[in-house]
Amino acid sequence: HEPLLQVKGLETAFSIEGKDHNAVDGVSFNVEKGKIVGIVGESGCGKSVMSLSVMNLLPKGIGKIRNGEVLFEGRNLEGLDDKEMNKIRGKDISMIFQEPMTSLNPVFTIGYQLEEVLHNHFKLSKKEATEKVVQLLSAVGISRAERIVDEYPHQLSGGMRQRVMIAMAIACQPKLLIADEPTTALDVTVQAQILELLQDIQKKNDMAIIFITHDLGVVSETCDEVIVMYAGRIVERTDVQRLFNSPKHPYTELLMGAIPRLEEEKDMLATIDGIVPSLTKMPEVGCRFANRCPKAMKECTTVTPKLAKNEEGHEVACLLYETSRPEEEVLR
Ligand code: SF4
Ligand code: MG
Repeated sequence: HEPLLQVKGLETAFSIEGKDHNAVDGVSFNVEKGKIVGIVGESGCGKSVMSLSVMNLLPKGIGKIRNGEVLFEGRNLEGLDDKEMNKIRGKDISMIFQEPMTSLNPVFTIGYQLEEVLHNHFKLSKKEATEKVVQLLSAVGISRAERIVDEYPHQLSGGMRQRVMIAMAIACQPKLLIADEPTTALDVTVQAQILELLQDIQKKNDMAIIFITHDLGVVSETCDEVIVMYAGRIVERTDVQRLFNSPKHPYTELLMGAIPRLEEEKDMLATIDGIVPSLTKMPEVGCRFANRCPKAMKECTTVTPKLAKNEEGHEVACLLYETSRPEEEVLR
């Protein structure tokens, strides 16, 4: 069978002072129909760049796919022009972001903006469109939908705005939804409601979701599979049970220690010392986590670990595991 989405050897580069630097550095993964895949890592790990690459939304002239390919239902998305890509965006793949205020237009009503999305992809009469909008708003748990349609984004709470964004994203029943930190700006109670809503919609529509987050707590509640990214590369990949029962990569272990409890502040970055190396300071060889890793060994700065199967259904890229050593190393 064919996976819904295949990302193969993706390298996305940003041009900084005339030099290209890979923000995504050789990432491969599949998303199966109807599955929720979590992509986890701190900011600066390449998660968002990865999703913008999939959507063909990289800032023009600054970011570009240098290598690799993205296949949706077997069709190569790279090289599609804007017109063709626009047909796919929204209808087959859609995306929601962290801050709905920046994606909603402040000068148009909620109803108008939802109708616009529908008109882009369907031929509907005014009456049909209005009905569909109310239906969509109800589907995302907005009970007073008839009133909301005449309101402007600033009149809604953050949680309500995110629900509206989800309504827009699912308006055309996409097969894949990319949700980039969709609950990060919300308080924990609303966050839980939005996660529940997304899972609910996923089941009803048999939609696949790529769930991008820095929060492993969110992953444990929503995802089937998890990809942990660090500094542009995948460092660990497995299903959610395995990841939580037996994390293998030291970075994953640290992220787990950093899962915020409900009553605590949500600031997890404070609990892992150091920061992700910036694009221009990425080490050429070795493990990119070496300068922060509590288990680092001498060779970690000279040998680059490769992502490889360590156990059935569990891949890791760390020199603590024989399987991650380059072949010459293993033979020696
Ligand atoms: Fe730590 Fe070395 Fe493993 Fe990198 S390869 S995560 S530095 S032990
Ligand atoms: Mg991001």
